[in-house]
Amino acid sequence: MRKKSELRRVGTKIEKGAKVYSEYKLKKEVEKPKVTTREEWEAIIFENDSRKCQRCDATENLRVCELLSSEKFPELKFDLENGITLCEFHYNIFKGL
Ligand SMILES: [Zn+2]
Repeated sequence: MRKKSELRRVGTKIEKGAKVYSEYKLKKEVEKPKVTTREEWEAIIFENDSRKCQRCDATENLRVCELLSSEKFPELKFDLENGITLCEFHYNIFKGL
């Protein structure tokens, strides 16, 4: 099995993200759609955050990360309130690296 990096760079997935997001918004008007994949979750948060670091407005080297680890809080996995888009710099600060 291929090991998927938990936090993938999203910058190269902009087009795909926009599509996922618009489909999500469309569905949202009818029902509350459930996010079921990490990719979908990242794409929606990324678009919601206007494709910018939420600390410095950087638009490059962005990552979507979990505010609370879904390993500790499994119920928050794919929760759209539990994600934030950060640049690499602020991601490292956030993670205490
Ligand atoms: Zn930043």
